[in-house]
Amino acid sequence: MAEIILSSGDRFDIQPGVSILDAAGKSGVFMPYSCKSGRCSTCKCKVLSGETTVLQAEMGLTDGEKAEGWILSCVRSASADVVLESEDLGGIELPAVKTLPCRIGSLEKLAPDVLRVVLRLPPTAVFDFLPGQYIDIIGADGVRRSYSLASAQAGSKTLELHIRAVEGGAMSAYWFGQAKVNDLLRLNGPLGTFFLRRVAGLDLIFLATGTGIAPVKAILESIEGLAEEQRPRSVTVLWGGRVAEDLYADIAAIGARHRYVPVLSRADAGWTGSRGHVQDVLLSLEPDLDNAVVYACGSDAMIHGAQDRLVRAGLPANRFYSDAFVCSAPTSAN
Ligand SMILES: Cc1cc2nc3c(=O)[nH]c(=O)nc-3n(C[C@H](O)[C@H](O)[C@H](O)COP(=O)(O)OP(=O)(O)OC[C@H]3O[C@@H](n4cnc5c(N)ncnc54)[C@H](O)[C@@H]3O)c2cc1C
Repeated sequence: MAEIILSSGDRFDIQPGVSILDAAGKSGVFMPYSCKSGRCSTCKCKVLSGETTVLQAEMGLTDGEKAEGWILSCVRSASADVVLESEDLGGIELPAVKTLPCRIGSLEKLAPDVLRVVLRLPPTAVFDFLPGQYIDIIGADGVRRSYSLASAQAGSKTLELHIRAVEGGAMSAYWFGQAKVNDLLRLNGPLGTFFLRRVAGLDLIFLATGTGIAPVKAILESIEGLAEEQRPRSVTVLWGGRVAEDLYADIAAIGARHRYVPVLSRADAGWTGSRGHVQDVLLSLEPDLDNAVVYACGSDAMIHGAQDRLVRAGLPANRFYSDAFVCSAPTSAN
């Protein structure tokens, strides 16, 4: 048995072969994470002393990051004591993770390749989550995939998902070919740490691409309920797609507190709005990066591109949070 000591002062035991993230969870210590498969790099932390062991490939790290001592806690273990620098979640208690049965309440096409799925929970089920978190859906044949919760109503008996069709995808084939109202599924969650930290007085900026708008929508809805002293100074949402029909939801209509900037990368000549990539459009708006906090969700390419550009432009590195919608199939299946 070895011990992991975090820069926050938290410490917990770890058994060989168990990931640092799982060992933390078992001891009631919360560390940031998202994909849990070594792809997205949300759980990136730095080894300050000691040796860790690799459980699965760290696809979310560059060779340079590995050489500097960065690891992904979801796919690393330890057999001797290790000291790690990791984000302190500041005492935020994550809601209990549960596996529950659920039925499809409704299915609606929001765009040619996007479905809005509303799931119904059993009347007696209690399911709490923080806006921005995701769930895993487990299909009848055991296929398990991650989808973000698109609505902020924790405690409600319905959950909203926005699901993009992935070509050749096992779960996409189900959603877009077979799924019907009343189908029985299972969910596991809530999962992930893409929720608001302290944002009082800061300029809160969301960057989203595609269905990455789903958790942003949930967080936006929850901001309406924040007490005055917890509110950000401003809220800006940049949502990117290729063509106008990719921007399938009315984000401007969610409350009156945010500025909404739709961005298209392959717009036709009739489009009068912003063009290009969300991170470039954000920089063209000359944000006050010293006082900004950025939450980015969607494609891995956007997230890495945005983080790199914004931090180089002056955003403090610890004020960039992300949820990369990477493939959520188990790594052995790829
Ligand atoms: C934390 C998290 C939250 C997510 N939330 C959402 C959400 O709210 N809405 C949503 O539409 N998607 C979301 N995703 C992405 C979704 O889980 C995956 O796209 C999923 O793998 C699709 O399942 P599938 O069975 O259709 O395709 P799979 O059978 O998993 O994959 C088929 C092929 O497509 C590739 N592939 C799969 N997904 C992706 C991807 N996202 N990007 C690039 N290549 C891919 C695979 O490598 C494989 O070659 C989320 C992912 C994560 C990790």
